[in-house]
Amino acid sequence: MQYKIGPSGVQQHEGRSTGARSVFGSLLRGAALKCPACGTGAMFRRYLKVADACPHCGEALHHHRADDAPPYFTIVIVGHIVVGLVLAVEMVYRPPLWLHAALWLPLTLILTLVILPPVKGALVALQWALLMHGFDPDAKDEMPESFDASLPQIGQPPS
Ligand SMILES: [Zn+2]
Repeated sequence: MQYKIGPSGVQQHEGRSTGARSVFGSLLRGAALKCPACGTGAMFRRYLKVADACPHCGEALHHHRADDAPPYFTIVIVGHIVVGLVLAVEMVYRPPLWLHAALWLPLTLILTLVILPPVKGALVALQWALLMHGFDPDAKDEMPESFDASLPQIGQPPS
């Protein structure tokens, strides 16, 4: 196993830094849309597209499997904010329904678009800090080379 020292002074193996990983610190860096390893490079190369590797330290970030967790947590957060505000405004001011729609629909959309990237960044950073999926520097490749050969062929009974 070959190790090298990355540009940020952290020992790396195949783009994965070795050593202790702070869960809380990683969550903060990810929520700030920064690389969980160095806290300097950008985690995203587009709005929600995670960079394959950190542009600053080279940490591999493509191992993440955020899937539908970021939208799920975003729905929970935005729902609690908006529903609480809707109920409070209704109890105090009793505005007409058109005003409710004019207030809460745009607020829901804006909050969702603003909260989604930090939530996804935090979840990717959490996976990195907990060595999930391919983030473990000692992990084997996720797909063995002989994977296809080990599957039974279609139309043939398993041996
Ligand atoms: Zn980095």
